[in-house]
Amino acid sequence: MARYIFVTGGVVSSLGKGLSSASLAYLLKSQGYKVRIRKMDPYLNVDPGTMSPFQHGEVFVTDDGAETDLDLGHYERFTNISSKKSDNITTGRIYSDIIKKERRGGYLGKTVQVIPHITDRIKEFIKKDISNEDFVICEIGGTVGDIESLPFVEAIRQFSNEHGKSKTLFIHLTFVPFLKSSDEIKTKPTQHSVKELRSIGIQPDIIICRSQKSIPLDQRKKISLFCNVPIQNVIETVDVRTIYEAPISFFNQKLDKQVLSYFKLKSKKRANLLPWKKITKITLNTKKTINIAIIGKYVNLKDAYKSLDEALTHGGISNKIKVNLVRIESDKLKPNQITEKLKNVSGLLIPGGFGKRGTEGKISAIKYARERKIPFLGICFGMQMAIIEYARNKLKIKKAGSTELDINCYPVVGLINEWNKDGKIIKGTDKDLGGTMRLGLYEAKLRNNSAIKKIYKSNSIKERHRHRYEVNNNLKNQFERKGLIFSGMSPDNNLPEIIELKNHPWFIGVQFHPEFKSRPLSPHPLFSSFIKAAKSFNGK
Ligand code: GLN
Repeated sequence: MARYIFVTGGVVSSLGKGLSSASLAYLLKSQGYKVRIRKMDPYLNVDPGTMSPFQHGEVFVTDDGAETDLDLGHYERFTNISSKKSDNITTGRIYSDIIKKERRGGYLGKTVQVIPHITDRIKEFIKKDISNEDFVICEIGGTVGDIESLPFVEAIRQFSNEHGKSKTLFIHLTFVPFLKSSDEIKTKPTQHSVKELRSIGIQPDIIICRSQKSIPLDQRKKISLFCNVPIQNVIETVDVRTIYEAPISFFNQKLDKQVLSYFKLKSKKRANLLPWKKITKITLNTKKTINIAIIGKYVNLKDAYKSLDEALTHGGISNKIKVNLVRIESDKLKPNQITEKLKNVSGLLIPGGFGKRGTEGKISAIKYARERKIPFLGICFGMQMAIIEYARNKLKIKKAGSTELDINCYPVVGLINEWNKDGKIIKGTDKDLGGTMRLGLYEAKLRNNSAIKKIYKSNSIKERHRHRYEVNNNLKNQFERKGLIFSGMSPDNNLPEIIELKNHPWFIGVQFHPEFKSRPLSPHPLFSSFIKAAKSFNGK
């Protein structure tokens, strides 16, 4: 049986549970163990797919088409293990399954209750779809003490009771603040958080203390004493200079060593930290910078385009240049401000998006980048905006638009009627919004002699999708005659996947989300190529 590591958080949110879990997973994997990471989210949405990025940050899409929490993105980027649908669950999903079963009469007249029915379902999730993994790391969203997370904490308590301490380990991540006024590190919030956890039946085995400063031995002893955890299992995590340093920092603090020794295991081979050291060095020492503009609706929220920001940074690392993201809020962008706003940028990126707000600003900015030969990358909605711009200004279809935004437009972009998934035809809909988009990995065939084929160095690619609308394939010849070519198509030739401009140094739109597959240790070719083009636009 696999060993299960449960990660909870205390005191405050946003301490980096995801990053800690991902770093631990990397360290265990690199020492020869098979690892899986999963996330349990206490909110009532069935999945984050219908949530605004303002509320919850980016929606991360997996190969198998699940719309999941952005922490799964961290996991993938750090471990290079592809997540699956079965790696993320929410309270909403659990209740929805239970209520469906109850309506079918599946509980044989019993009263359906949080304990045991909800907790049993959570335990099923924890063990589902696990084969020969050595470790399963389960992160519990939220903070201990929240009403919503209680059933999850109760479920992991029961799980540990049923499977024994030799198969389960509890890690609790807390905050250890430094008070400037008294020049002191405070352990009390950690003590309270652990007290809270113990009151609901869980004694942590390892405490990770997030702190701005290194925690002196005396303070660690205090945490060990009050929280009933051996001193060597009080692990500190001091703010790192770049997230790529996190696996190195946890290794230095011996987190992986303590986990292995808890389970009475030895490392099968040495942890390989070299790639992280290399990219940390590049990240910290690169001085040259280029500005890349991102025009989107959610630019003010740090996590709304998490994978995209990361992928651009990866592209910078592979070109040894720092990418400075110039975030421009599309709602506020007036067409007459474009020249001023894009004055110092070497590349323009329009990311995925939904709905009408801010679209005219995006379209004007694309026109500007097209005419001034500024490298342009349009992702999903960004590609759709690019083709609308071209239709209006080059094909002279003044009413060109997307039916998502205006039902009376000339539909250059429209609802996908149907698509082929593994040989099965799926019908598009805009009625029921949850989980009904064209989601997950789909193939695209690349055209000979196209820019995109040179970038991918392949005839065929598989990328992750998340869209309901699609470029109108009937207009293909019209566009191509005017210099915009459809350089990537679905294998049945029905759905345009990639567009590019002939007379432009770098102008590409993709219907998929390449950012989900970029990794710091293997940057995505599309982002590397985009940043390379931006670098030469800038003359650097
Ligand atoms: N709203 C567009 C669609 O559904 C684009 C989606 C996206 O950018 N992810 O097709």
